[in-house]
Amino acid sequence: MGATPMTRPGLVVLKFGGAALARVERLIERVAELQRHGQQVVVVVSAREGVTDRLLEIIEHPSDRRRHAIDLAAIDELHPGIRSSVRSIVLALRGAVSDIESVATVTVGESERVLSFGERISAAWVSQELSRADIPAVPFDADTGGLVVERVHGRPEVDLTASGRRLRPRLRRLLRRGLVPIVTGYFGRNGRGAVVTLGRGGSDYSATALGAILRAERVELVKRGASIRTGDPRLVEGTAPIVRLSYEEAEELARFGARVLHPLTLEPARRTGFEVWVRAVDDPTATTIIGPARPESAIRAVSVLSPLALLRVPTAEGLDRRRTVRRLTAQLARARISVVTWLTVPGGVGMVLEPHDAGTWGRSAAQSVTRATTPIAPLRVDLVTAVGDGILSEFGRIPASVLRAAEGVAVSARSLSFAVRASQTPTTLNVVHRVLTERPPPPSPESPPVRARDRGRAAVPAG
Ligand code: ASP
Ligand code: MG
Repeated sequence: MGATPMTRPGLVVLKFGGAALARVERLIERVAELQRHGQQVVVVVSAREGVTDRLLEIIEHPSDRRRHAIDLAAIDELHPGIRSSVRSIVLALRGAVSDIESVATVTVGESERVLSFGERISAAWVSQELSRADIPAVPFDADTGGLVVERVHGRPEVDLTASGRRLRPRLRRLLRRGLVPIVTGYFGRNGRGAVVTLGRGGSDYSATALGAILRAERVELVKRGASIRTGDPRLVEGTAPIVRLSYEEAEELARFGARVLHPLTLEPARRTGFEVWVRAVDDPTATTIIGPARPESAIRAVSVLSPLALLRVPTAEGLDRRRTVRRLTAQLARARISVVTWLTVPGGVGMVLEPHDAGTWGRSAAQSVTRATTPIAPLRVDLVTAVGDGILSEFGRIPASVLRAAEGVAVSARSLSFAVRASQTPTTLNVVHRVLTERPPPPSPESPPVRARDRGRAAVPAG
C-alpha cells in the first residue's frame, strides 16, 4: 500500500510558532477566515517563546527549587486567564518538575516529559482563546493522540503510517463535530508510550507530518519573522523576499545554513505533494510558498555556514580522487563523523567538517588514508553557498576573484559552495549574491552595455 500522492482540498494545517503566539488574535482571525472559505482547519502550536528554554533550564538544574519556582511562575504568566481545565495541565507540569527535584540525575524519559509541557499548556490556552472567540476548539495532545516518533540513526522521525492509523480517525471525528483540534507540536510518543521530542523548532515538522497524515491541501507555518529572503539581510546587501521555492531548494538552503525550518520539515510535504506556506504573523503578504519545482520560477539565494574547518588531503600516491574519497568516507563512518561537504582543492580533496570533528578524528583519518607524514592542519573556513535549481549552469558567472579567494569549491545541480577564510566571507557572500540574483543580460543585440559593466564591477571585491 504505497503512499498515494493525493491531497484533500479543503483542509489546512495552520501552525503558529512560539513567537507568533504572542499575537494569538492573528491565529483566531486566520482560523475564522479559513472557515469562512469553507476550509477545515487543524491548528498546531509551539510552546510560547521562551518556555522551552525555561523547561530546559529546569532539567539542567533538577534540584534548584528556587529557580524552578521562578521559571514556573514565568510560564504561568505567559498563559493569561487560564481556566480550570488548563490549570490542571499547569499543575501536572508542577508535578513532573517536583518528581525530578529529588533525583540526582534526570532520565531521558523524565526530561522529555517535562519538555513536552510547553506545547501542552500552549494548546490548552489557544483552544480556550478560540472558544472564547466563539470558535469551538479542543486541545489535542500528540502523544496520547497517536503521533508515533521513533529514533532512526539517533534522529527522531515521525512514523507517518503508524501515526496515520491512529490520528486520522480521531482528528476527523473532531472535525466532523465542528471542532478545531489544537494539536501540540514538538513531540509524539514511541512504541513504548514514552514522550519523544523532535528537536528544537520541531513543531514545524509536527505540522507537515500532520499535513501528510490528513492529506491537507497545504500547511501554513506562521512565524514572527518575514518571509524567506535571497540572503540574510544582516550580511547581504540588496536581498529580496523569495515568493516561491522548490522543496529541494528549501532543503538545500537549510542544509547550507539558512536557519529557517527544522531540517525534516519538508520531507512529508515533498512526499505527499502539498505546499508549505511560510508566513510572517504581522504581514500576511510576506509569504514564501514551498512546493514542487517549477523551472520557470527557480530562485537564487545565498547562505553561509560558520565556523567550519577544512582539511586538505593530498591524493596519495597511486590513489585517484575517487578512491581517496572512498577511503576517507569509510574512516569517517567508523568514527561516526559526517562531512558537511566535499570540495575540490588543488592536488587533492577537501573535507569540510565541524571544527571539533576536524581537530580530532578527521585529522587522523585523513592522515592514515594518505599515509602523510606531515600533519594535516585544519584550516578555519566559512562555507558560502549559492542555491537554486539548475544553478550549475551559471557557474561561469562566478567572478574569477571569488574563485581565487576560495580555498575550495563544490558544485552540484542545485548548489555552488565556496570555502573561504572568515575575512573573505562578507565579500564572497555579497558578490555571489549580486551576480546570481541580478537578471541575466537580455539576449537581444540592442541590450545596453551598462549591465555588462555593472557585472564587471560586482566582480571586484570591495575593500
Ligand atoms: N518549543 C520547541 C522549541 O522551542 C519546539 C518549537 O518551537 O517548534 O524548540
Ligand atoms: Mg519554541
